[in-house]
Amino acid sequence: MERFQDSGESIYSFQDEFLVRCPNCSFCAIIRRLDPNNNDGFAPRRFSCTACGSTKDWSESKIVQRSDSEPTDDYFHYPLWLQTPCCGQTLWAYNLRHLDFIEAFVSAELREQKPDEGYGWSNRSLFSRLPKWMQSAKNREKILKAIAKIRLSI
Ligand SMILES: [Zn+2]
Repeated sequence: MERFQDSGESIYSFQDEFLVRCPNCSFCAIIRRLDPNNNDGFAPRRFSCTACGSTKDWSESKIVQRSDSEPTDDYFHYPLWLQTPCCGQTLWAYNLRHLDFIEAFVSAELREQKPDEGYGWSNRSLFSRLPKWMQSAKNREKILKAIAKIRLSI
């Protein structure tokens, strides 16, 4: 039986890197922090596309939340590269590490949570933030197939 150890990572810990669709050439591009050591959510970001060479910087004092018709990054609002329809929903991930996390979650038979030191159970944990349809055992196979399909797009 596979075990899944939830490290208590929050969704924010995956926002250091986004794979997105370049608005210029539609290939896979990347958004990263300019300073990899700056963990701040408002740290300046750079979009760069190796396919067409376009770059763009983000340095704002706030993050605008939008309800886009498809999943996007939080900074430039470009469509996420890692996404595919699944179970009547859209399965998406910010980056491959995030995709790995979802895969590990979904394929795990036994799931464990580790309490945050001093704070009891973490309610910011990504584990509890994954949508219900991803937590459902009956969707497990379809989700794993969708994840495999997303990997082929890289
Ligand atoms: Zn491009």
